[in-house]
Amino acid sequence: MVLGDLGKRINRAIRLMSDATVIDEAVVKEMLNEIAKALLEADVNIKYVAQLKNRVLNRVKFEELAAGVNKRKMIQGAVVDELCALLDSGRDPVPLKKGKPNVIMFVGLQGNGKTTSCVKYAHYHQRKGWKTALVCADTFRAGAFDQLKQNATKARIPFYGSYTETDPVKLAIEGVNRFKLDKFELIIVDTSGRHKQEKALFEEMEQMSEAVNPNDVIFVMDSSIGQAAEDQAKAFRSSVSVGSVIVTKLDGHAKGGGALSAVSGTGSPITFIGIGEHMTDFEPFNTQSFVGRLLGLGDISGLMNMINEADIDKDVYERIAEGHFTLRDMRDQFENIGKLGPLSSVMTMLPHMQNLLPAGKGKEGEERVKQFMVIMDSMTDAELDNPKIQFTTEREMRVARGAGVFPTDVRMLLKQHKEFAGVVEKMGSMKGLKNGNMNML
Ligand code: GDP
Repeated sequence: MVLGDLGKRINRAIRLMSDATVIDEAVVKEMLNEIAKALLEADVNIKYVAQLKNRVLNRVKFEELAAGVNKRKMIQGAVVDELCALLDSGRDPVPLKKGKPNVIMFVGLQGNGKTTSCVKYAHYHQRKGWKTALVCADTFRAGAFDQLKQNATKARIPFYGSYTETDPVKLAIEGVNRFKLDKFELIIVDTSGRHKQEKALFEEMEQMSEAVNPNDVIFVMDSSIGQAAEDQAKAFRSSVSVGSVIVTKLDGHAKGGGALSAVSGTGSPITFIGIGEHMTDFEPFNTQSFVGRLLGLGDISGLMNMINEADIDKDVYERIAEGHFTLRDMRDQFENIGKLGPLSSVMTMLPHMQNLLPAGKGKEGEERVKQFMVIMDSMTDAELDNPKIQFTTEREMRVARGAGVFPTDVRMLLKQHKEFAGVVEKMGSMKGLKNGNMNML
């Protein structure tokens, strides 16, 4: 999970509060101080941190809390809500219109991941059935066209560009017109960047915007600048009408939280985040889902959407929704989620699965999952199909021998299954799964 360390620290603070014998104002304040420290270290602006603390405290009126109200749940809910508010721009992104030519212009500073994000964005939508094309109007950076061409070819996305034309505006107009004629629905224009904000960049952006009349302008920004993102986002917004933001490189930066909250603070919605160099290291950004995953609560509703869109066996999810979760279901689950995207990323959509993934080391988590699959292959059908299965130490050792692992690995798998089955049981119904109600977990 991106920002895994931040998530763990916030989680720990919430858990400490929940474990206290008596929950009074002092305990809640201590929790909020811990959360504040974690947020400040992630470079979240002190103004937003103070706001979050005050809002949570204002919502929890101790003297008014009726007897029987579950204080822990209520306080947890308030923290989750306020973390969501911290990342919420309060504005919806520009909607795309199916069947129409949507021209989307990408802007941003050089090296921030603009070209990479253009191709990721195109690939994401193409997989969802949009007729998508790319136009390279970046004549400033040598190699930009080659980079786009290479990646677009890999993803089988039609593209337009030139090695000889030096006028970016002319190129953009030609490309956009050509793809409009061919009835493309999503025409993505990659524009030039500059090393830093400068007059020439903003002038070119304005000319380009006038020439291609985009339906939306997406600003691409590197998360490593943390809260300085606020000034950068404002500067771009004042030059062209930025409709949304893609925040990149969240896979490697402790300051990512600061960047996300700073951008949201400017009133520009973040629509996607970049979480690696590969084409699929790209996720739609939704505050509820992001916070749920950050805190290890999962994002069941997001997962259900992905499952509905992907071509995979849905039976297992229906059985899970009925509250029965066998080891075989867990196995199927692992097999299926691989088809939805990078395993390490999809796993964070499942409640409590984050524990399987060591911080910042998605690959290790994936290895662990593969090992679990091998262990489950060494079990009998009866063991795989009984939701309440109990293993004797002898059976644990036999299975471990069969799978070539240590008995502790088998026990870890069984513990994970039990934990997961407990959550699934609590959710009980399909309705609960679909709503993905985080407070239920
Ligand atoms: P541009 O100059 O803004 O078009 O930037 P590029 O798209 O060429 O990206 C610059 C570098 O950042 C390249 O090495 C990309 O592979 C890398 N990059 C882009 N997005 C991400 C991301 O989300 N995570 C990581 N780790 N690297 C990224």
